[in-house]
Amino acid sequence: MLDYEFDHAHLWHPYTSALSPLPVYGITHAEGTHLTLDDGRTLVDGMSSWWAAVHGYNVPQLNRAAHEQIDRMSHVMFGGITHEPAISLGKKLLAMAHGMDWVFFADSGSVAVEVALKMAIQYQQAAGHPERCSIATILRGYHGDTWHAMSVCDPTTGMHSLFGPSLPKQFFAPSPQIPFDGEWDESDLQPIAQIIEQNADHLAAVILEPIVQGAGGMRFYHPNYLRGVACLCREHDLLLIADEIASWFGRAGRTFACEYADVVPDIVCVGKALTGGYMTLSAVMTTAHVAEVISSGEAGCFMHGPTFMANPLACAVACASVDLYHERNYAKRIEAMGQRMKEWLAPARSLPSVADVRTLGAIGVVETRRPVDMARLQKHFVSRGVWIRPFGKLIYIMPPYITTDDELRLLCNVVCEAAEMS
Ligand SMILES: *Cc1c(COP(=O)(O)O)cnc(C)c1O
Repeated sequence: MLDYEFDHAHLWHPYTSALSPLPVYGITHAEGTHLTLDDGRTLVDGMSSWWAAVHGYNVPQLNRAAHEQIDRMSHVMFGGITHEPAISLGKKLLAMAHGMDWVFFADSGSVAVEVALKMAIQYQQAAGHPERCSIATILRGYHGDTWHAMSVCDPTTGMHSLFGPSLPKQFFAPSPQIPFDGEWDESDLQPIAQIIEQNADHLAAVILEPIVQGAGGMRFYHPNYLRGVACLCREHDLLLIADEIASWFGRAGRTFACEYADVVPDIVCVGKALTGGYMTLSAVMTTAHVAEVISSGEAGCFMHGPTFMANPLACAVACASVDLYHERNYAKRIEAMGQRMKEWLAPARSLPSVADVRTLGAIGVVETRRPVDMARLQKHFVSRGVWIRPFGKLIYIMPPYITTDDELRLLCNVVCEAAEMS
């Protein structure tokens, strides 16, 4: 057994109290779609470890890439040095991301967002607009936990009430109201159009999660909204930053969620599934135009360079993860998973405790009317042999793409049970 007492008394978990932490479950092993508890029971994984482990766990191809790279060189600085894993990964990413020409490797999703925001501000500065240094975004967004990333997260579900006065003030438009498959109405764009038109002189960029608003509410909005925002950005010389950290890599049903709207952003952030959940790595991609303008500015360079930039071990695993993405042709499986989830989560729709049921790509969401009792539900999930981690009013699954129909059926059934208990 693990030393739970030590964990309870000394280890901080995400968003957790030191005084009354919720119970944690010890995992000793993970293989394919299963997590093994320290008492030997196994759980079907419904979370892909927060969007990351899309190929499942203990993946032979990813293990091999890590072993081969660690025996050559685990890390070397990226200042003045380059290496094969970074070059290969750069090529693979640019081949996936239509319209992008430059890649900046960063440590995590939040850092990628910081890097993207810095790019936007350096771009405006170099273009002769140092006063254009604020960011516009939409409510219900989530962009990470670091300083400027926090400032563009939803002010209510995010951490604004706590950090408010010390956070940079940004511009928020209401979140899009028309759902992904709803009937489009141009009026949905009016609020953000107004904010952009009235404040363009102070704005450097718009940042948003294309189509899928993740941790801020698991909402799927209409592609025309994204298309409209892209037009507004172009009209007012704002950069469009697409935070695809969670939505890319097929999760929303396309390689990039932006593809639903045929939008090519100026800057795109990717992370989470990049290394198949093996280690932390993110990338920020941008166009030749943005890179050239930044580099012709006063600084003459882009001002960022983390110690572990382009870590070879992470890049090598990411290369193998991207190769798997192409080889396994996940698109069909993701579409099938979406259809199954739609069908198998449908029974929750008629429950009085349920406000909405929605699916997109390989994401399934049941929204309850009241916040769920996380500890109670978690216990139920484990007793039913699944790993699902709800938050707020959201019981949702985004299982690995290798999940079988039987496993998916179990996950959906248990989500419906949990909705009934809520
Ligand atoms: C998870 C996430 C981030 C932050 O990534 P970390 O790796 O947790 O720092 C940023 N944006 C979106 C959309 C995310 O889902």
